[in-house]
Amino acid sequence: MPGICCAVGCDNSRQRNPGLQFVSIPKDVDRRNKWLAAIRRDHWQPTSNSRLCSQHFVSGRKNDNPMSPDYIPSLFALEMANPDPYTDSGSSESVIEEIRIIRVI
Ligand SMILES: [Zn+2]
Repeated sequence: MPGICCAVGCDNSRQRNPGLQFVSIPKDVDRRNKWLAAIRRDHWQPTSNSRLCSQHFVSGRKNDNPMSPDYIPSLFALEMANPDPYTDSGSSESVIEEIRIIRVI
């Protein structure tokens, strides 16, 4: 859907965040590949409707200067979208394990 940020774990949209800029994925192949590597979305190819919000840039906006840190987006909340299986899901599994033990007894 156009107008929604394509970053993993980010659901900013033009409707909800009118103060943000939404930029399209660069057409330049080299820069585009670097963007895709930064976005790290599996099995995903951007379309002409794909947009990235300006929250993923250090200065809050895209920069077309290759020397700028904002030539490539760098701020992503990947840990929100991919919780660490060793720290997060372990607790719910141990609860299930406890229930099994109680039933056996
Ligand atoms: Zn975003």
